[in-house]
Amino acid sequence: TSEPLKVAVTGAAGQIGYSLLFRLASGALGDRPIELRLLEIEPALKSLEGVVMELDDCAFPTLAGVEIGADAEKIFDGVNLALLVGARPRGPGMERGDLLSANGAIFTAQGKALNAVAADDVRIGVTGNPANTNALIAMTNAPDIPRERFSALTRLDHNRAISQLAAKTGAKVTDIKKMTIWGNHSATQYPDLFHAEVNGQNAAEAVGDQAWLENDFIPTVAKRGAAIIEARGSSSAASAASATIDAARDWLHGSAADDWVSMAVVSHGEYDVPEGLISSFPVTTSGGDWSIVEGLEIDEFSRARIDASTAELADERNAVTELGLI
Ligand code: NDP
Repeated sequence: TSEPLKVAVTGAAGQIGYSLLFRLASGALGDRPIELRLLEIEPALKSLEGVVMELDDCAFPTLAGVEIGADAEKIFDGVNLALLVGARPRGPGMERGDLLSANGAIFTAQGKALNAVAADDVRIGVTGNPANTNALIAMTNAPDIPRERFSALTRLDHNRAISQLAAKTGAKVTDIKKMTIWGNHSATQYPDLFHAEVNGQNAAEAVGDQAWLENDFIPTVAKRGAAIIEARGSSSAASAASATIDAARDWLHGSAADDWVSMAVVSHGEYDVPEGLISSFPVTTSGGDWSIVEGLEIDEFSRARIDASTAELADERNAVTELGLI
């Protein structure tokens, strides 16, 4: 079809947006023309206008149009894909409850707006933190959109895990398959080497070093964001944008054969993850739908880590329930 794919991006004037928009516009999701629909809060609209001037100046052949605004019901009208990047960052002295309620206001409103005006085939990817719980809030406030259309981003963690494993084993990133991030996109996430493969060999066996796995690999992946802030002086943005693209592209066009990806999606109780939480799983995608890879054996080590991360998600769900957000 030559109808443009309508893609909404929220927080479009932010750091991630500055990288994401140019990738989307230049064809990262395929040759189909794209219409960008960019949402920002009022004070950021002027800066967003500057970004749109730069988009114009790229003369991208795949960019069919750009619309900007601060009204979610206008911007989300007819969108096929919504990438929810904008979120309220944790400020000095802000408690966790303050953060959850600030983001709750954003994601309840955006869930309702998507419910009212998005296209019937809409897919919604949440990058803004706390991503899993923000996705849960949007999903719960959009009762007419199937729950399976919401996902939170753990693809950056997934890509970081692949990169760390490749460096450790001397393999190429393309030699690594079946990486999994389980749980929450937070420090409790569990990057799993017991089901990953390096050139067809079990990754934990290929590494052969449980101490590295526990004391280096897992914390390096989980704390990579902080390490980048420390080195760069600001948080990762280009890599977060790149992962947002990877996740959307695979969701719409399908994951590779003999491989899987990590996505935080609604649990139906798979792997004993409490029903209704948006938790990261190994998934395959095809025809715009995902399905959780089932039947993996989970040993005690992995079980404890998955349980710890999903317990944190359940706590966050309790907190936003108490705040009346869901
Ligand atoms: P960024 O573009 O750097 O980050 C946006 C969000 O993505 C943050 O919540 C951030 O989480 C999250 N994120 C997820 N993964 C990563 C990662 N690996 N590295 C860094 N961030 C990650 O933030 P900016 O402050 O530059 O931009 C945010 C924009 O959103 C602003 O322009 C603001 O005006 C806008 N906004 C728009 C809203 C709307 O459209 N209605 C609502 C709220 C904000 P974390 O905070 O943990 O770093």
